[in-house]
Amino acid sequence: MSLAAVIRAEQKLLLPTYDRQKVLFTRGRGVYLWDSKGKRYLDFLSGIGVNALGHAHPAIQRVLKLQAGKLIHTSNLFYHEYQAELAKKLTRISGLDRAFFCNSGTEAWEGALKLARAYARANNNNGHKAKWRLLALDNSFHGRTFGALATTGQKKYRHPFAPLVPGVNFVAFNDLEDLKRQFDGSVCAICLETIQGEGGIRPVSSEFLQLARELTNKSGALLLVDEIQSGLGRTGKYFAYQHYGITPDIVTVAKPLAAGLPLGALLTTDHVASGMHPGMHGTTFGGGPLACAVAIEFLRQLDRLLGDVSKLGKYFVGRLEELQSQHSEIKDVRGIGLMLAIDLDSADTAKAVVSELLAQGILINRTHDTVLRFLPPYIIEKKHIDEVVNALDRAFRSGKALTTKGTKVHEGKQSKKVERSH
Ligand code: PLP
Repeated sequence: MSLAAVIRAEQKLLLPTYDRQKVLFTRGRGVYLWDSKGKRYLDFLSGIGVNALGHAHPAIQRVLKLQAGKLIHTSNLFYHEYQAELAKKLTRISGLDRAFFCNSGTEAWEGALKLARAYARANNNNGHKAKWRLLALDNSFHGRTFGALATTGQKKYRHPFAPLVPGVNFVAFNDLEDLKRQFDGSVCAICLETIQGEGGIRPVSSEFLQLARELTNKSGALLLVDEIQSGLGRTGKYFAYQHYGITPDIVTVAKPLAAGLPLGALLTTDHVASGMHPGMHGTTFGGGPLACAVAIEFLRQLDRLLGDVSKLGKYFVGRLEELQSQHSEIKDVRGIGLMLAIDLDSADTAKAVVSELLAQGILINRTHDTVLRFLPPYIIEKKHIDEVVNALDRAFRSGKALTTKGTKVHEGKQSKKVERSH
């Protein structure tokens, strides 16, 4: 089917949830994707942080083929060989004790919220004060299901679906006083992303995270950390919280875990896990043998790539800061490892730059209106970073050239549509 035919068919047949770029991808290899017309694209988005090993990675292909020929699904009514092995690897790298596997980020976060409430209830039965409130952060993003939306601090996602799950209050981002003011004995968990992803690549401050850890430690509440975007090597460590020297009570991961297959997980301590018993929570597909076998291979590859992510990240930040010194449109450079962004002076400029790069065969995306986000695969090389930075430089220069000639390049009202990026 041609791109035009696919667009026509989707417009008629699909729920109108996405405002897709007009590109039909047909294959990928390494850091590149190809569209239906044979045009090549450098992928600096990785399917929103999923394809950390790039496309068609030989080790992943090998495991996929082997496991697909052996066993794809059994349900969680039975054992298979890989959940325990994967849990062993994830607990080793996270410093936690136990895992629960599911199918997506939002499902991992739902599980984390349910576990927090179940743990609080179990402790309440033991004579502790009742805890039910969840404190989440302004500008956060935790997913699209009801619990995840209820803890997502952005009106545009929440508003159409109200009323949401009760018992959630929002704390101003990195505001220590607001956290102290809102925290009391009724809080069962503080919920946060170590680095807000969809919210524009904003790292939580060290002081804020330490305070959240101290308050929850003292009161017996839990610290829930969403590492669905920042975890599993994205920042140059296995988990972004490891840059801060704290360990959360519950951590969620998903995106790159099974190298493109749907797989999410929550990780927690033995103590918190005691809040769950058989039948309280579950999933039909989650943690199936195919996804788990692939995830074990992903983690094996990751061990070798972590150092590269840090080095490449530093190089990339340096190049972006150089660019910032040349273009006043760039207000800020943020992030760590290969979770980076530049914040621009207007949403229209950001939109225009994304389109310009797409035309030049480079994939990045825009989030939170003005932020250009880079989530490349961990297998990129310096030359790929140079290619992207040079393309950005050209885009800013051509934008200026056209504007000074009197033709506004960044014309057009900013879309009112909810962004589908993250
Ligand atoms: N949490 C964070 C930090 C995310 O970035 C995302 C997705 O972008 C989610 C949760 C939801 O994950 P999923 O889209 O797999 O449900």
